Amino acid sequence: MDSLLALRRALDAHAIVSVTDLAGNILEVNDKFCETSGYPREALIGRNHRLLKSGMHDAAFYASMWSTISAGESWQGDVCNRRLDGSLYWVRSTITPIPGADGLPERYISIRTDITPLYEAERSARLAAEQLSATLSAIPDTLIELDEDGRFLRIGHGAECHDGPVFCCQLLGRNVDEAFDTVSAGQLRVALAEAIGSGQCSDLPLWIRVDGRQHFFELSGSRLPDADRKRRCLLVVHDATRRKNLETHFAFAIDGAGEGVWDLHLSSGQVKFSGHYEAMLGYAQGELAPTLDAWLSMLHPNDRLGTRTAFFGYLAGQQDSYSVEFRLRHKDGHYIWIHSRGTIVERSADGLPQRVIGLHADITARKQTEDALQLFRRLVESTDQAIRVADAAHRIIYVNPAYERMVGVRSEDVLGRRFDCIATTESAATIFPLIVAAIENGSSWQGLAQLCRPDGSKFFSLSSVQPIRDVHDGSLLYSFNTFSDHSEEIARSQALETALTEANAANQAKSSFLSSMSHELRTPLNAVIGFAQMLEFDDALDEDQHDNVAEILKAGRHLLALINEVLDLAKIEAGRVELSPEPVDARELVDECMHLVLPLARARGISLAPVAVSGTMQGDRVRLKQVLLNLLSNAIKYNRDGGSVQVSSRVQDGRLTLEVADTGPGIPAGKLGGLFEPFNRLGVENSSVEGTGIGLSICKRLVELMGGEIGAISEEGVGSRFHFSMPLADAVQAGQAAASARMDVQDAARPRQRVLYVDDNPANLKLVGQLFARRHPVDFSSAQDAQQGLALALETRPDLILLDVNMPQMDGYQLLGILRAERSLSRVPVVAVTANAMPRDIERGLAAGFAAYLTKPLDIPQFLETVDRLLAEAASRPETIA
Ligand code: ADP
Repeated sequence: MDSLLALRRALDAHAIVSVTDLAGNILEVNDKFCETSGYPREALIGRNHRLLKSGMHDAAFYASMWSTISAGESWQGDVCNRRLDGSLYWVRSTITPIPGADGLPERYISIRTDITPLYEAERSARLAAEQLSATLSAIPDTLIELDEDGRFLRIGHGAECHDGPVFCCQLLGRNVDEAFDTVSAGQLRVALAEAIGSGQCSDLPLWIRVDGRQHFFELSGSRLPDADRKRRCLLVVHDATRRKNLETHFAFAIDGAGEGVWDLHLSSGQVKFSGHYEAMLGYAQGELAPTLDAWLSMLHPNDRLGTRTAFFGYLAGQQDSYSVEFRLRHKDGHYIWIHSRGTIVERSADGLPQRVIGLHADITARKQTEDALQLFRRLVESTDQAIRVADAAHRIIYVNPAYERMVGVRSEDVLGRRFDCIATTESAATIFPLIVAAIENGSSWQGLAQLCRPDGSKFFSLSSVQPIRDVHDGSLLYSFNTFSDHSEEIARSQALETALTEANAANQAKSSFLSSMSHELRTPLNAVIGFAQMLEFDDALDEDQHDNVAEILKAGRHLLALINEVLDLAKIEAGRVELSPEPVDARELVDECMHLVLPLARARGISLAPVAVSGTMQGDRVRLKQVLLNLLSNAIKYNRDGGSVQVSSRVQDGRLTLEVADTGPGIPAGKLGGLFEPFNRLGVENSSVEGTGIGLSICKRLVELMGGEIGAISEEGVGSRFHFSMPLADAVQAGQAAASARMDVQDAARPRQRVLYVDDNPANLKLVGQLFARRHPVDFSSAQDAQQGLALALETRPDLILLDVNMPQMDGYQLLGILRAERSLSRVPVVAVTANAMPRDIERGLAAGFAAYLTKPLDIPQFLETVDRLLAEAASRPETIA
């Protein structure tokens, strides 16, 4: 019994004990029960055990318990009860039925231990495990546990982890070397060794190829606490395949774009270059010093401030982005233009930028284009030419400042309007359609158009409109018009036209003046030279008188030459020379001219020789002769006594050149420039050599009129060489010309012929009468006016009539008209002998029907040659009129 009591005491000290009847009503509780539940004993005895129910267990829990104990068996379990103060406590219960005399349960005894602290600890541990599992499943990575041999112990996949196919549960228990190829297994072993060795590893690469696809992982992990002496590690496998692919694409894009990448760590000033960065600057990969200072030394001095301002402004948050253009020095020394962009990719804990990554693009070509465009723009904007550009619908899209100034508008006034908005109504109606048609046809248009300013003033524009077409389909894109204000030009040309008309009128007046002066001078000169020539042959004169006559003749001839040359020059300058180009044989021309100047040369003992002259030139025969004669006579005039003159020819580049070389004193180099100026005698005017200073200027004008060139070289003390060149003539033509030139006039034996001379000037009548008396056995008769002349003509029926033009009452033209109308006299050649020596007079005379037109003062040899020729022709003509 004592031992039973001791047992009961021990039980009361450690356990919570209660006894209930079969319905659960409490019969007995120990102190521990009251202490734990907080109820006083009297509040418990007689009450049902339900009083302590916590509500934490469902009905099935209690039903199971009751069915066990009511069957007479003990029940064990953890039960949650509620204290008097409402708080919960957990007890581990053993309920045992106490049988009665009949063996059936009579009461129940319940012994409990307070397990609340243990339960709370278990609950916390369970919660922690659940949280860990939830946390792990939230990580989008795979967790693998490896032992130190590289065996897979555990594999867990994160919620969004896609590498199930790589790290599948089949790997469990296998070794990394069995599971993967050498490379991947090696990478896993590196991570394993690092994690186990140093306790941690991070960001180690792992490439695994599965089903032909390359996966890229980053491994981080740590050693696990040793459990069973076998060392293990947990590795977090981060699938970075997508990022790696993106990086590869990015690198490809950068590479393709030819851009360079820079990566600057601000704290260290270290900069990494990749992509085309170094190649862009002419360096090999890794050749550039990776520091900011080295980079700054390549930056163009003028760009330093701007670049720093932009960069630090961006770092300080003053700008949203960093984008700047500058020049960097290429390895070769020249600068290239760079467009640099960058972005902050790392900041310190306090928000300060730590790292900036950016791109460099080489924009040198773009800059050059921009510079060219800039230059073009400045050009367009600084030119005085107005420029406007219109679109395909002919609406103005650009006008330059010159346009604004010229038209008196601002660009905004005309932009968007049709380009004829500044034209006068008439121009818009007539010219605009022409311009549109031209440019839509793909052609340009040039011309004058009248434009109108807003203030109402008008002006003429000289425009050039060009279409600008699409290079692919040829459609019209723009039209481009450059124009200038042509009003002044038009006014100037009108003024010029007026001046020209006035000049022509003045020229006309000058010609009339020269014509009358020439007539006035020639008439007395005719008498002077004519009679002096007569006296020359008069044997009755003594030597002194002969000398005087010679002086008269010399002066008269000089005066005549002057008049002739001045008239010739005036005629050439007035553009009234009629040239008849024909093939001219150079040799014949030279022979003919030499023959004429031979007496002059002989008189001074000068030898005259052609040297290898040949070829045929194209030109007016008479004028060519005039030129060569002038050069030859100069070569003789300005030669030393006993000197020589040589004529030679050469053919070159389709031209024939004749050269006349003399052995005279030559011309000083300083004077050669004035050689072909009219009236410039180069200082010989006071010498004994006669001349007018006009001959060479006539020669130059004639040669040039015939398409040739004339020039001279000279050496003082040695002589001068004058040359002129003419286009070569066609050889066949030349042959024909030569043949016709050689036609001989048969000199037939002539009967005594009759010549009638009509002139109101008795001196002239006397002179010509004496000439015939000396030269020809002709019947010479004369009359002093036209009526008398006509009567004589009808009476004597002369073979030749010489007729003065200026006569009182009836002039020579009138008389000629009558003679031509008179059947018996209509074929008699009538020669004009007149002082009207202007080219116009000669033309008129020949056109009126004079057989020849001889001007006073008479050139006797020419006079006689004409008379001889006409009389010979008359003699050879069959007589038809009886
Ligand atoms: P001019 O009637 O005076 O001879 P030209 O027009 O024929 O007029 O020549 C102009 C000038 O050129 C001459 O006055 C002379 O000074 C110079 N001149 C022309 N030919 C020669 C030459 N062969 N030698 C030297 N001087 C010459």
